[in-house]
Amino acid sequence: MSRIDVLGVGIDNLTQKQAVERAFELIDEHRSAYMVTPNPEIVMAAWDDEQMSEAISSADLVIPDGIGVMQAARILGTPLKEHLPGIDVASEILRLLAEKNGSVFLFGARAGVAEKAAENLQKQYRGLVICGTNAGYDFDDAVLSEKINAANPDFIMVCLGVPKQEKWMADHAGKLNAGLMAGLGGSIDVFAGLTKRAPKSWQRLNLEWLYRTLCEPKRFKKIKKLPHFIIKAMRERAGNKNEKR
Ligand code: UDP
Repeated sequence: MSRIDVLGVGIDNLTQKQAVERAFELIDEHRSAYMVTPNPEIVMAAWDDEQMSEAISSADLVIPDGIGVMQAARILGTPLKEHLPGIDVASEILRLLAEKNGSVFLFGARAGVAEKAAENLQKQYRGLVICGTNAGYDFDDAVLSEKINAANPDFIMVCLGVPKQEKWMADHAGKLNAGLMAGLGGSIDVFAGLTKRAPKSWQRLNLEWLYRTLCEPKRFKKIKKLPHFIIKAMRERAGNKNEKR
């Protein structure tokens, strides 16, 4: 599958339906494949970190989670089909897994949070099997791998934040008894009810990032770098045009 290059990171150009179909093909292959969900923070992390860059380019599925990535792709003259927030794609995967009594393992967040998320998901998606949970701090990796192998999940939500989750998935790709792993940042916190997503009206206006920053001011440091990301896309576009002249 050819990828669209957005400032050094290849992104799969798919609709949500196509992304979910691909996710289920990977789940069926059961070879612990992984999906990453780049936003500008992830793309920028890949610029200065070779291991991160490698973790993204080796992923089996790369979906554009951030609206900044959509904007940069448009500026570069290679627009992507659809903005795909990781949590939306994951929710659709969970909904469809529930229909066939598929299983999910929740990995990440502070102690007790994944269990709360499991409780809520169980109510929301009847038929879904929550086959295990593990907090994202102070875990023994060998013990965790054994726990996952025994649980044999179709889907693993890996919520350790950037870049830990991407590197963890790259390290474990092809080594676990699991279908698909997905790096989903704060999604377990959201499913547990610990943090809230932006209201739908904000999401429609592509302002979910602003809402999250207003709710968690410590995120301001992350969005401060956004203008640099967009300016880089503009410079690259101008450079490409000049080259063609
Ligand atoms: N987290 C974790 N282990 C770590 C660092 C972070 O489990 O060593 C969790 C953290 O508790 C939170 C999630 O990873 O649940 C990251 O959330 P954040 O909203 O910062 O991620 P983003 O969506 O911005 O990548």
